Amino acid sequence: EVRVRFAPSPTGPLHIGGVRTALYNYLFAKKNNGKFILRIEDTDQSRFVPGAEEYIIEALNWCGIKVDEGQGVGGEYGPYRQSERPEIYREHVQKLIDEGKAYYAFDTAEELEEMRERLTAARIAHPKYNVITRMTMKNSLTLPREEVEQRLASGAPYVIRLKVPKKEDVRFHDEVRGWVVINTSELDDKVLLKSDGLPTYHLANIVDDHLMNISHVIRGEEWLPSAPIHVLLYEYFGWEPPKFCHLPLLLKKDGNGKLSKRDGDKHGFPVFPLEWKDPQSGNITMGFREQGYLPDALVNFISLLGWNPGDNSELYFNMEDLANAFSLDRIIKAGAKFDIEKGQWFNEQYIKRKSNAELSKYLLKSLAEQNIECDQEKAEKICEALKERVTFPQELWTKGQYFFIAPQEYDEKVVKKKWTQEAVDLLSAYSEALKAHEGAIDRDSAHSILNDTLEKMGIKMGRVMQALRLAVSGSGAGADLMLTLEILGKETISQRIETAIE
Ligand code: GLU
Repeated sequence: EVRVRFAPSPTGPLHIGGVRTALYNYLFAKKNNGKFILRIEDTDQSRFVPGAEEYIIEALNWCGIKVDEGQGVGGEYGPYRQSERPEIYREHVQKLIDEGKAYYAFDTAEELEEMRERLTAARIAHPKYNVITRMTMKNSLTLPREEVEQRLASGAPYVIRLKVPKKEDVRFHDEVRGWVVINTSELDDKVLLKSDGLPTYHLANIVDDHLMNISHVIRGEEWLPSAPIHVLLYEYFGWEPPKFCHLPLLLKKDGNGKLSKRDGDKHGFPVFPLEWKDPQSGNITMGFREQGYLPDALVNFISLLGWNPGDNSELYFNMEDLANAFSLDRIIKAGAKFDIEKGQWFNEQYIKRKSNAELSKYLLKSLAEQNIECDQEKAEKICEALKERVTFPQELWTKGQYFFIAPQEYDEKVVKKKWTQEAVDLLSAYSEALKAHEGAIDRDSAHSILNDTLEKMGIKMGRVMQALRLAVSGSGAGADLMLTLEILGKETISQRIETAIE
């Protein structure tokens, strides 16, 4: 059975890379009729940020990533918040101690610092607490047994470290990278249990992945260096490791370095799914949601950052199609470049595809904020007129203001080129013809009345079209002209023409 987990630490808002990790886990679970589990890894209390867990859950919801089991949902393997499972980790680490696979270490921060300085002075590039240096440190492998017991009994602070073997190869298979081999001489005797009695990431992660029956660990490349430690832990516990799959980094658009919040700030795009208010500074950072990204468009966009279906398909209009196309063997090794323009393109595609009724909700909301009244029918027609021309739903209002407010100014360039005497004459005749028309106009009658007027005056449409646009909207380009005229209605058109001519 496929059981995957998304295991964020609540140290702040979810980054877009975290959303991608969650999404790939989710798609893989859906594709294989498996379960997607949410586990909160909050054992590092110094990095805990209030509100982060709630943010993560809300962000997943907004993206349409449904948690089958885990924090906020429940399930038979809970609790799913690691801070609520301390005894479980203690019990397990005790087993390692009893079997000589982990040990107590009593070194103070100063002693550790001293060791680091000593090794750095001896030109050792990456000082480690390992099989060599541990011989000089204060731990249960070097101190006499009675002293260890005495220290423990006296309540002296200690940590528990993993006893990493000397010069052995640790190997594991990664679904994306193939075989990975690391020699233990490159590994630290990692701390498993901290002096506050809580586990480190390594211990808690492995114990929970095993107890929660996780079949595949799909996570970001930044965790690859931890994998050998994890594999060693599985071996020590006598457990079969899950399959590993490390996802490529998200890079800046030019490929130069990792995508960061700074990069987003610099170019004016978000890297968080939702708005985030920093609880300490009170600073607010915009999210994709607030910028007007539709969740399904964002999901489609990020699904292709590190994966592709192998043909040239890009648009998947629902999660199910995306899940069906998804597979781990098409995840790429190379970092994925994050190009926000592509994200905007996806948003445009999704907006175009929405019904006018769906889109009208956004427009009506903006109008309500402006205290402008508008009936449903008109709102839907405006959406029809504009939906091919907007990137974000809030532009239905910003780009469609002229449907409600007469132009305050006219595009200078168009005035210079197209506001001819001929155009003025035509417009005034058109205005008269509209007034003479009985009843309301629609796009067809607006068109035929215009054609009749043109014909009578012997003028070609192409010579006056932009002037007409300019008079009714203030701009020389925009939505379908006849539909625009229908939405405005004949009285408004006449008024605007008359104002423009004056
Ligand atoms: N808590 C880790 C994180 O913040 C989990 C990494 C993993 O999936 O093993 O991403």
